[in-house]
Amino acid sequence: MRIVLLGAPGSGKGTQAGLLKAELNIPHISTGDLLRAAVKAGTPLGLKAKAVMDAGQLVSDEIVLGMLEERLSQPDARAGFILDGYPRNLAQCEALQKLLDRLGQPVDVALQLVVPNELIVERLAGRAAAENRKDDTPETVRERLRVYAEQTAPVAGYYERQGRLSVLDGVGEMREVQQRILSALPRRAA
Ligand code: ADP
Repeated sequence: MRIVLLGAPGSGKGTQAGLLKAELNIPHISTGDLLRAAVKAGTPLGLKAKAVMDAGQLVSDEIVLGMLEERLSQPDARAGFILDGYPRNLAQCEALQKLLDRLGQPVDVALQLVVPNELIVERLAGRAAAENRKDDTPETVRERLRVYAEQTAPVAGYYERQGRLSVLDGVGEMREVQQRILSALPRRAA
């Protein structure tokens, strides 16, 4: 099963991807995690990405695509994957489609987690306290939400036009949201 998880920062993509990974036994591929690992390792790519991430803006499509391509070519991704944080704009949608067509592994479903903005701001403030992420400061959160609305929100429409989008309520208990996701997966008894 090849799943794209969509939703604003703080909508619970990472949490849900972790639960789904255990349930479906496929890897959780987060471009945010891949980028943070590159920053931590101090690779040239990581050094380039750091300032952009700290400002709440998008790292260049080229850098992220290269990283993603490398990750998707690892053997565990052949069984399927849960993609989190990608695609984040329409150019990335096209790039992903091209890449997956080439691999013969098209996206099965795009799941969009919808959470009201007030709750998002609250959740991210909590995460800032708990995880000490540099991009969870109030100004950067505002910028990330702006970038989301401007560049990432149209991604849902891209999958909707392909008839592959499921829009889900992301508010509620973690397990409750997970049940909604499992029920929305194609070819699977709910
Ligand atoms: P969130 O979804 O909570 O904003 P992520 O961990 O997905 O957090 O991403 C953190 C940052 O990493 C983003 O603000 C952006 O700078 C960078 N990033 C992650 N994925 C992408 C992507 N697909 N394209 C460009 N930049 C990305």
